[in-house]
Amino acid sequence: MNKIAMVDLKSQYEKIKPEIDQAIHEVINSTAFINGPAVKGFQEDLEKYLGVKHVIPCANGTDALQVAMMALGIQPGDEVITTNFTFIATAEVIALLGYTPVVVDVDPDTFNIDPDSVRRAITPKTKAIVPVHLFGQCADMDAMMEIAGEHNLFIIEDACQAIGADYIFADGTRKKAGTIGHVGCTSFFPSKNLGCYGDGGAIFTNDDELAKQLRVVVNHGMTVRYYHDFIGVNSRLDSIQAAVLKVKLARLDEYAAARNKAAEYYDNAFRNHPNLKIPARFGRSTHVFHQYTLVTSDTDRNALIEFLTKKEVPAMIYYPVPLHMQKAYLDPRYKEGDFPVTEHLCKTVISLPMHTELDDEQLACITDSVLEFFKI
Ligand SMILES: *Cc1c(COP(=O)(O)O)cnc(C)c1O
Repeated sequence: MNKIAMVDLKSQYEKIKPEIDQAIHEVINSTAFINGPAVKGFQEDLEKYLGVKHVIPCANGTDALQVAMMALGIQPGDEVITTNFTFIATAEVIALLGYTPVVVDVDPDTFNIDPDSVRRAITPKTKAIVPVHLFGQCADMDAMMEIAGEHNLFIIEDACQAIGADYIFADGTRKKAGTIGHVGCTSFFPSKNLGCYGDGGAIFTNDDELAKQLRVVVNHGMTVRYYHDFIGVNSRLDSIQAAVLKVKLARLDEYAAARNKAAEYYDNAFRNHPNLKIPARFGRSTHVFHQYTLVTSDTDRNALIEFLTKKEVPAMIYYPVPLHMQKAYLDPRYKEGDFPVTEHLCKTVISLPMHTELDDEQLACITDSVLEFFKI
């Protein structure tokens, strides 16, 4: 049996090596390292795949979020609401830009931003909501769009973990994660569902004017060459990464299917376990399983991880600390106990290996090891 990894990029690469190597060599031979045809080619493929008018490539997912907020014209002092249970980048850019991050609790089953908590957090200063499609499943976008409409707010989707997931509206129409709000953001960090071989990211929108502004902001706020009408940033996807992404995008749905197959295997092993709750499926979204996350009960989680580590089964905690308890983000508005769902999840969740190359032998080893822990 191959050694089990949280994410196995090596085995995945072996299967697509000739295509990847050729794509990378083409870029090197062309020496069009920045904004070359590979970037344009990938951008167009992604626009088609997502069914969105504009994809603006950039340097990483964090930049994508920052650029989106800058291009929307959100001002220092404005409040931006996001989920308390996410990777730090979401809140980081809000704070960096001088906005006020307002965090809200999540749904205990889907782990995604709770619409009622969002409603309660809205003030006259609120300008935007950043729903995060956590672990590969979309947040309740019917509710988000409704709230945004009622209060005239922007929706910035953080789709860093959910590229390729379909959202299914109450009326049955389907849209890809990241293409529903005013603007969507994604990351191509290697371990993401569509990962490159370095850093990368992209911003999506159907709004022509906003797309223009996003392109200005990622390029030093430049409107005409060497004329800078706005303060911008330098955020580019390089051509080698775009070439890798083009090859992998063609397999994204196949990769999502492999992740779902692994998730089903886990589900079947843990479904009726008294100490483990399998991840709920939100009926309005397909799941692309960026992570497979169990909620434990009456379990010494550290002992479980230690037990698994001894069996060479990796496991991770995404995320151990809610945003409002992170040292850098401590805020007198918030105290321990204010976000009971997030706080409970931070203490009880555990994520198992999840990637495109898990075989049945490895899955059996992982599930047997977890189940064995509860028998001793
Ligand atoms: C990975 C991630 C980001 C940041 O992406 P980078 O490319 O690492 O900057 C932002 N938000 C979420 C939810 C993420 O998972």
